[in-house]
Amino acid sequence: MSIALLQDVLQELGVETEGITADTRLRADLALDSIETAELELALGRRFGVRVDLWDATDYSLVGLAELIDRTRAAVPEADPVADRRRPGIEIPRVPADRAQEYRDVGWWRPVPLGTTIYQQDPGRCALVAGDRRVTYGELAATVDRVARRLVALGIEAGDPVVVQLPNTVEYVALVLALLRIGAPPVLTPPNLGAYELERILDRAEPTAIAVPGRTRHSDQLGAVRRLRPKHPSLAHVLVAGVAGGDPAETIDLIGLCDPARPGDTDGAPAAVTPPEPGDAALFLLSSGTTGPPKLMGRTHEDYGYVVASTAAVAGVSADTVYLAVMPATHTFVLAYPGIIGTLSAGGTVVLGGAENPQGTLALIERERVTHTAAVPALVTQWVNCLPTAGYDVSSLAVLQVGGARLDAALAARAKDAFGCVIQQVYGMSEGLANFTRLHDPDETTFTSQGRPACPGDEILIVDEDGRPVPDGQVGQLLTRGPSTVAGYFRDEPATGRAFTADGFYRTGDLVRLRRDGNLEVTGRIKNLINRGGEKISAEELEQLSLELPTVTAAAAVAMPHPVYGEIACLFVVADGTPPDLGQVRRLLLDRGLARHKLPERLEHLPAMPLIGVGKPDRTALRERAARLAAASVPAS
Ligand code: AMP
Repeated sequence: MSIALLQDVLQELGVETEGITADTRLRADLALDSIETAELELALGRRFGVRVDLWDATDYSLVGLAELIDRTRAAVPEADPVADRRRPGIEIPRVPADRAQEYRDVGWWRPVPLGTTIYQQDPGRCALVAGDRRVTYGELAATVDRVARRLVALGIEAGDPVVVQLPNTVEYVALVLALLRIGAPPVLTPPNLGAYELERILDRAEPTAIAVPGRTRHSDQLGAVRRLRPKHPSLAHVLVAGVAGGDPAETIDLIGLCDPARPGDTDGAPAAVTPPEPGDAALFLLSSGTTGPPKLMGRTHEDYGYVVASTAAVAGVSADTVYLAVMPATHTFVLAYPGIIGTLSAGGTVVLGGAENPQGTLALIERERVTHTAAVPALVTQWVNCLPTAGYDVSSLAVLQVGGARLDAALAARAKDAFGCVIQQVYGMSEGLANFTRLHDPDETTFTSQGRPACPGDEILIVDEDGRPVPDGQVGQLLTRGPSTVAGYFRDEPATGRAFTADGFYRTGDLVRLRRDGNLEVTGRIKNLINRGGEKISAEELEQLSLELPTVTAAAAVAMPHPVYGEIACLFVVADGTPPDLGQVRRLLLDRGLARHKLPERLEHLPAMPLIGVGKPDRTALRERAARLAAASVPAS
């Protein structure tokens, strides 16, 4: 490999190549930042068909880089046998082989098991902070090994899904990393989902184990698991982080599983496990559930690894990053945009918190000198309102990522002023595509657009009702496919058929407009979903359950504007006889085990349901009615 060829590549990337010699180093001399480094890797992939990793500790000189490329080329097998080496067991929908091969050839998908980068970091550096507890990379790696070994000893094997419904704790991180290590995909389940959703997740995933917190005054997920367990014979183990109560033989102490001091344990020995293949299912995410309960999506080590790597580049995450995980880490926004996994992959520090108390969050930012965090707009509103009186020093914050729901431009501007940091809008979905505004974008872009794909391989189409591309700049439904997007839902062909086109594009159900500067603006949605401050509520789920009330003959749930959450659920019902009141509806839904955040906050009675077409509720008319009611602040019925 000649240095001149490398100079060509650098020149194409816009790097000034005059005066560059064989000894010129990428970081020290050319000062390539994380985005340029990622672009260089991609360019080398395209030009020379190699996948080189420029994120290790080495600062390559041009001659060193040439040698690395030569070595990598020599080691590349004729054909990539990744797909063929896949472990039998868990089968998830997959993108067609030719596209998968292309993603590998270009270097988007890399053969690196997720989470293993923690072993490459300086063992003395701080990896996790939780309350007063600090965990170094050395301790984290040892804990992950220990938990992996103990899970294997319990009989949990590669290909066994394990439902993880835990808050942001050290045990959560250690368990997820240990499951990734042994190839038993965690099913990441938000702690606020109720027994209703959990039952459907268990039906679909048939997990070998589930991990939940111990009983507290506020939640009893363990109680729900105990009730559901007899109906789910696959569930061999219940791991509990905290006080379990009941028969100790029925549950396993997760905190004990992480604890080094367990008699008879061969501590320090690496877990005797075969590392997962890049194409194996690494983990499962849950969809927002537009048509009922959440659907499962299998993410592989290589496709999710790509999401983490590309989003880390656009968020500017490095070993100096201190990332505060304040929203539930079971969501991909907090786990991988670049979130916990991205920060740990870069050797930074993750601070684990909770979103309950804005003062507590601001205090954590001050105490830990947090540089990055991610939040939904509703949370940002609370922080911004709290800051002037709370008086915390939040000057360390460099990047505030805001996403999950529409961010108002005025709030974006207030947040920038209050924190003095970069606002990065994030518009993504668990199915894949992640759009980000960039750190150097002008305010106009970061305040008013939802960014552009973080992964250069993501394809987007904006189509009209007939599936035809709309003219430039017009609003249409966003369709997407690419190396970061799944090919379908797990064990759910009907839902896959509805949500994906024949050529593999995911129908997001979001209405967007592509601006001239290449950024997307989310203008609305066509899916029947209510986005309550980033928490998604399926209208269909509410409607089906409300029909169980004896006098209700028709029901339709729509979004009602709300000053803090953006939207709340407003339920319209038609009753034959005495109509139910809001309390009765909410009690029924709670009795059925529905998550509390999904309960309607407004109930309206109608003499008849307005209908369109083949007898579907006229949701546009109902949404307008809900908006008028909100504007008039008519008291709830
Ligand atoms: P989830 O899969 O739970 O992450 O939800 C994805 C959905 O949330 C998207 O399809 C959008 O409807 C909505 N969403 C996410 N981020 C944004 C954003 N920045 N602005 C508006 N809607 C968003």
